Amino acid sequence: MSGIVRAIASLNYNEMRREVETLRAEVRRLEAERDDYERELRQGFWVNHGCPVSALYGDDGELQCGQCRTDFKREPFADLRAKTFTMRLAATSEALKADKQEQSRLSALVAGVQQLEQLRQARLSAERVAFGPVKIVHAGRAGAELQAVLDAVDRLIALRIAATGEK
Ligand SMILES: [Zn+2]
Repeated sequence: MSGIVRAIASLNYNEMRREVETLRAEVRRLEAERDDYERELRQGFWVNHGCPVSALYGDDGELQCGQCRTDFKREPFADLRAKTFTMRLAATSEALKADKQEQSRLSALVAGVQQLEQLRQARLSAERVAFGPVKIVHAGRAGAELQAVLDAVDRLIALRIAATGEK
């Protein structure tokens, strides 16, 4: 017998009823506290689960997301917690991937600038024509942009050579 049950067993009927009422009130208070806490967590999950804020619908006390079609107000709490964890993880790795893409774009730009400098040096020297067209070895948009600039420079030089007869 637990301490509380033994204590209740030693009471007379009225004392026992009062004690049961007290315990019931305490249970109601704890349940309300749990519900408040759960509501707060559901709101937190709703706001921070990884979908854009523009996809969230929160009018009339609703906690819905139009992108992942999750109802943060009605889905069972345990399911919601697991689902939110998975979605946050996916959003974080997406962000890391975007970071990596940006980094490789930047290093392509740096490499491209180095190649441009190389080209400038070569163009300034006597062997500028012998140097030939420079090809950007880095793939992606940054590489393509730089290649277009380099091709335009090559065309201008070819025009100048043609116009002046310079070799
Ligand atoms: Zn969502």
